[in-house]
Amino acid sequence: MPKKPKKTRKPKQTAIVRFLGRPAKPAAKLSASRRHATGEAARKCVELEAALAEARKSHERLREAIDILPQGMVLLDADGRYILWNKKYAEMYRRSSELFSPGVRLEDTIRVGVARGDYPEAIGHEEEWIAERLKKLYQPGGRHEQTLADGRVILIDERMTEDGGIIGLRVDITELKQREASFRLLFDSNPIPMIVCALGDEHILAVNDAAIQHYGYSRSEFEKLTIRSLQAFDPELPWTAELSGNESAARTWKHVRADGTLIDLAIYSRQLVYGDRPAILLALMDTTERKRAEARLTFMAQHDGLTGLPNRNLLRQQMDDILLRTRRNAEQVAVLVLGLDHFKAVNDTLGHGIGDKLLRGVGKRLRSMLRDDDALARLNSDEFAIVQSGVTRPEDAAFLARRLLDAIGDPYLLDGHSVVIGASIGIAMAPGDGDESEKVLKNADLALSRAKNDSRGTFSFFEAGMDARAQTRRKIETELREAVQGDTLRPYYQPLVDLASGRITGFEALVRWPHPERGMISPAEFIPVAEETGLINAVGGLMLRRACTDAAQWPDDVHVAVNLSPLQFRLGNLLALVVDTLKQSGLPARRLELEITETLLLEKSSEVLATLHALRALGVRISMDDFGTGYSSLSYLRSFPFDKIKIDQSFVRDLAANPDAQAIVRSIISLGKGLGVTITAEGVETEAEVNCLRNEGCHEGQGFLFSRARPNAEIVSMLKTQGNWSSPAGAALVA
Ligand code: C2E
Ligand code: MG
Ligand code: MG
Repeated sequence: MPKKPKKTRKPKQTAIVRFLGRPAKPAAKLSASRRHATGEAARKCVELEAALAEARKSHERLREAIDILPQGMVLLDADGRYILWNKKYAEMYRRSSELFSPGVRLEDTIRVGVARGDYPEAIGHEEEWIAERLKKLYQPGGRHEQTLADGRVILIDERMTEDGGIIGLRVDITELKQREASFRLLFDSNPIPMIVCALGDEHILAVNDAAIQHYGYSRSEFEKLTIRSLQAFDPELPWTAELSGNESAARTWKHVRADGTLIDLAIYSRQLVYGDRPAILLALMDTTERKRAEARLTFMAQHDGLTGLPNRNLLRQQMDDILLRTRRNAEQVAVLVLGLDHFKAVNDTLGHGIGDKLLRGVGKRLRSMLRDDDALARLNSDEFAIVQSGVTRPEDAAFLARRLLDAIGDPYLLDGHSVVIGASIGIAMAPGDGDESEKVLKNADLALSRAKNDSRGTFSFFEAGMDARAQTRRKIETELREAVQGDTLRPYYQPLVDLASGRITGFEALVRWPHPERGMISPAEFIPVAEETGLINAVGGLMLRRACTDAAQWPDDVHVAVNLSPLQFRLGNLLALVVDTLKQSGLPARRLELEITETLLLEKSSEVLATLHALRALGVRISMDDFGTGYSSLSYLRSFPFDKIKIDQSFVRDLAANPDAQAIVRSIISLGKGLGVTITAEGVETEAEVNCLRNEGCHEGQGFLFSRARPNAEIVSMLKTQGNWSSPAGAALVA
C-alpha cells in the first residue's frame, strides 16, 4: 500500500480562494430601527463590493499576466487544490484539462490520469509512481521530468509559496530531449572512439563503446582517468594546442592504450555542456594504420622491392645532400654505376628465382664492401649505383671499383648452383663531371657503356665526348627503326672461295644500310644498336628471307651463309622462322649456312643447343664465326658439332709475317681436319696470305682478295661470267 503523503504544514486559505470560493449572498432588506446599523453595513457592503471588484480585476490581471508566460504555470493551495493555472498549463495537460477547477486537488487529477494511462512511466507500478509523484508535490523544491502519453516530456519545477501553497512551472522539453537522444545515439553508437571530458579538471566524464573497445579500459576505469593521462608525450591538450581546423586534423597525437601500446591519433574537439558542466567532446581518429601504410608506401616509392636497397629516386635525394655537403667542404664525390654482365643469360637459363637471388646476393656483397656513409642503390634490373664521398683523387674511386669487381666475381651458391657473374663499372666524378645528381649519374652511365663495349669486367671513367657518342647512338637507333620500317636494308654478298679449285662455293650475306646522308653504314656500327634495342629480330628476319630468296636463283651448288645474332635465339621462334623461310623461298636446307658467334654459346643454354640441333637436323649447316676471339673457343667446339669454323680475320691479317699467327692458324686447320669440319679463313687480302693458307691445307677463303660484298645483281653476273655458273671449274675470282 502506498503511503499517503505527509502534509508538512496546515494549509491556510488565501483571500482569493475565500472570495472566489464563496460567492457573495444577495443583500437582505433592513428594518427601520436598524437603519443606522444598516447604513453602516451597507457602506461596508459597498466597500466590500468594491474590494471584491478590485480583487476580481487583480485576478484577471494576474491571469492575463500568467497566460502570456511561455511556460505552463499552476498555483495550488496548501492542500494541493487548484487555485489558478495558465493557458499553457491547460494546453500541456490537455487530456486532463476538463478536470481542472478551483478547489479540485491536483492529486485527484493525477490519479485519473494514471488510471487512463496518461503517464506511461506509471504503467505497471501505478501506486508506487503516484506515491513518488505526490511526495515531490507535497515536498516541493526540485525539478523532475515527466513523460506524457503522446511522448512529450515536461520538466516540472515546483516550489512552496510563502503561505504554504505550491507554485508549479512546466516547460515542454520534448525537443531538447530528442536532441539529447540524437546526441546520445550519435555518441554511443558512433564507430569512432569518443570521449567527453570536463573542461576544468580534464576528467573523463563519458566514453562511447568504440572508445572502450579501442583503448581497452572499462567504462568505470575510464571515468577515473583524465584525458592527459592517456597522452603519451604531449604536454598540451588537444583543445589548448591552439591549432586551426586544418592543423588539428594534420597533427598527430600519441595515446597509450590499457595494454601499453601506443596509437597515433588525429583529434577533433568541440566544446559543449555536459550535464551542467562545460565540457569537451573529443573524436579520436586512429591513424596508426594509415601512418604505417603511408610509411610503407613512402618506403616502397623509394626502395627497390627485390633487394630492399634505395631506388633511383631516393639515391637522387641522397646524392643531392651529399653533393651539397661536399660543395661546402670542397671534397670530391665518385659515382660508380655497376652493370652486371650477361645477367639476362642467368635469368634465361637458371630461371627468375635464381636471378632474383643473385641480385640480392650482389646487393648484399656491395653493401658489405662500402662504408656506412657511401650510398648504394639499385637503378634498374642489373644496374647498381654507388656514391663514394670523401674522395680526394680519381684513384680512390678506381681502387674501390677494382675491389667491387673482385668481390662480385666470386661464385654465388644459389639453390645448389654455383653461379658466376661478371660486372662492369662506369665512374663519374663530381663536381668535375657535373654538379647535379642527374648529370653525374648520366655520365657514370655513359662511362659504363664504354666499359661494357671495351671489354666487360672492367671499369671506365667518364670522358668528355662520351655524351656526343651516346647521342649519335640514339640517332642511329631512330634512323635504323625507320630503315627497318621502310625496308631499305639490303644484303650484299661476299664470295667464299674453295682455295684448292678457286671455285665459288657460296656467299655470305652481309647487311647493308644505304643511309640517305651518310652513304653505306657499316653493320659493325648498327648491329650492336639493333641488338640493344631488340630491332635485331626484324633485321635478322629480313636478311634471312632476302638471302634465301636470292640464293634460290643461284646455281644449285652455291650456298648462302647468313649471320645470326644470339638475341634471335632468345625470341624462341627461330626454328619456325627458318623452316618457313626455306619453304617460302624454295631454297633447299642444305644450301643454307647459319653463322653464329661464340657469345651465343657463352650462356650454355640447353634451349640454344636444342635449337641448333633442330636446325642441323633440317639439313642446314652451322658455322662458327670469328673463331678464336672468344674466351674458350675450344670448349665451344665440344658443345656442338659445327659444320664449319671461320678463322677470325685478326689471325689471317698477320699470317705472312707473324710465325705465331701461322702457328695458331695451322693448329686451327689441323683441329678442323681432325673434327672433319670445313675451315674457312676470313679477311684474306693478299696473295701471300692465300698462299700460306693453301699450304697449310685451309679449305676456304673469304676476303677482299676475292671480292668485297656486292649486291645480288652483281653476284648473278659474277657467277655467269667468271664463276661456276657456266663452267664449274672457274678460275679464282679477283675483286
Ligand atoms: P662477319 O660475319 O665476320 O663478316 C665478315 C666481315 O668482314 C664483314 O664486315 C666483311 O665485309 C668483312 N671482310 C670481309 N673480307 C674482308 C677483308 O679482306 N678485309 C677486311 N678488313 N674485312 C673483310 P661487315 O660486312 O662490316 O660485317 C661486320 C659484321 O657485322 C659481320 O662480321 C657480322 O658479325 C655482322 N653482320 C653483318 N651482317 C649481319 C647480319 O645480317 N646479321 C647479323 N646478326 N650480323 C651481321
Ligand atoms: Mg659472318
Ligand atoms: Mg666473321
